[in-house]
Amino acid sequence: MTVTESNSASHSVTMICPNLNCGRTVTTPSSNRGRTARCPYCNALFRVPQESSHTGDGHRSPVPGKGGGA
Ligand SMILES: [Zn+2]
Repeated sequence: MTVTESNSASHSVTMICPNLNCGRTVTTPSSNRGRTARCPYCNALFRVPQESSHTGDGHRSPVPGKGGGA
């Protein structure tokens, strides 16, 4: 079998650079999960989440706390 580790969703973590001035899509190896990675574009440091979001177009934004209120 030929195993190619190129674009494997399970082997890489894709996230958006937290730097508002950058906002680029950064892909880092899953081995960096829970560790600190650096944006290759702006050299911003950010933490790689342990668990990545499920592959889907829906962008969920979990907001802790109670919502509502006029
Ligand atoms: Zn960046």
